[in-house]
Amino acid sequence: IVDVQDLVFSFSSEGEPVINGVSITIMKDEIVGVLGPSGSGKSTMLRLIAGLEMPWQGSIYIAEKPVVADKLFVQPENRGVGMVFQDYALFPHMTVGENILFGLSRLPRKERKPRVAEMLELVKMGEFAERYPHELSGGQQQRIALARALAPKPNVLLMDEPFSNLDADLKAEIREDLRVILKKANITCMIVTHDRADVEAICDRSIEMGQREKIG
Ligand code: ATP
Ligand code: MG
Repeated sequence: IVDVQDLVFSFSSEGEPVINGVSITIMKDEIVGVLGPSGSGKSTMLRLIAGLEMPWQGSIYIAEKPVVADKLFVQPENRGVGMVFQDYALFPHMTVGENILFGLSRLPRKERKPRVAEMLELVKMGEFAERYPHELSGGQQQRIALARALAPKPNVLLMDEPFSNLDADLKAEIREDLRVILKKANITCMIVTHDRADVEAICDRSIEMGQREKIG
């Protein structure tokens, strides 16, 4: 369902590309961990799939549709991709409910509120719709970020180090819940992490981004 072929990308015209001929295929409903050393291009890879960067070469298919090919570049909002970032990036001036509602403009109006409730239920945050992000713990914010990303029913969910702000106890708790939530949502998912234990607890398999050899 996510097919990346021979992708090449660099932030500048000098030096070796950050992404140099990478190919990745992820099947429908698969949860895949993305491992690799710092600077190996994990975040960049997710940004390319999301459409936040434009590759120099290669193609990307999402749900059998090309989103990057020869002369084609589909805008991020039209790719059906959900993203959860390390810092969650919730809108601070909106309540939890409004945060989730925000991405639902493509859903028929009468389906939006029920969808928000369904998502809050899924992440076990049903009572928190009226709270503001600053009134939540880190783990609770993480759940809301997940609910917001899943609400528009994306084809694929991309998570970039979603646990790095959580303490060890909370992380262990969230890991277990996350796998259950993702499997319930039948979502195809890529999770970038430094921690192999995350991969073991959550993912069906993992891929490794190549070592970047850069000295001096
Ligand atoms: P980490 O595990 O530390 O998050 P990563 O695997 O996610 O690392 P990327 O953030 O994808 O790595 O970065 C890959 C390379 O691209 C690094 O060498 C980095 O310095 C460079 N890079 C990342 N973002 C930019 C940018 N906006 N402009 C220029 N270079 C960048
Ligand atoms: Mg990164």
